[in-house]
Amino acid sequence: MHKVGVLALQGAFAAHAARLRELGAEPAEVRTPAQLAGVDALVLPGGESTTMSMLLESSGLFDPLAERLADGMPAFGTCAGMILLGTTILDGRADQRSFGVVDIDVRRNAFGRQVDSFEADLDVAGEREPFPAVFIRAPFVERAGPDVEVLASVDGHPVLCRQGSVLVAAFHPELGDDPRLHHLFLSANGGTP
Ligand code: GLN
Repeated sequence: MHKVGVLALQGAFAAHAARLRELGAEPAEVRTPAQLAGVDALVLPGGESTTMSMLLESSGLFDPLAERLADGMPAFGTCAGMILLGTTILDGRADQRSFGVVDIDVRRNAFGRQVDSFEADLDVAGEREPFPAVFIRAPFVERAGPDVEVLASVDGHPVLCRQGSVLVAAFHPELGDDPRLHHLFLSANGGTP
């Protein structure tokens, strides 16, 4: 079984780890390059992408993680994690960086300040039942490249996408009690027992 890591610098990493444990995985928290070297796949949680970008630099994780992702390490990024995995950040801070392994332009806080948080039942490609999705100061995708599969959208804006073995969600699938997206990620990447 592959070892799944959860980037644990900031944000909602504990809920991701709990959900992965419920599904039978034994997630490892990743805060250092040595810990990154010990995992085969990585969840990048929601939180604050500007802060995470800074912490990735100061922890020395940015470059080794960029290299692993470029080598094809499977990843699941949610909310801020989606922003970090995309190509272009719109409404970002000038110094914030991203890994560019999913060919998407992502706008931060895209649903507007007045709708800080909301829930939506998403129609997800390949799923029979809608997925109850929690959005918190969420981004959405403004441009998806030809290699990107759009799996779900809100008002025509992609919010769940996949490119190769990297899955990104604009919402927080680790909140609420629907494990299907974590299961999808684990089962695609040998992370289930
Ligand atoms: N607005 C946050 C950012 O830009 C993302 C919010 C979240 O992860 N819930 O990083």
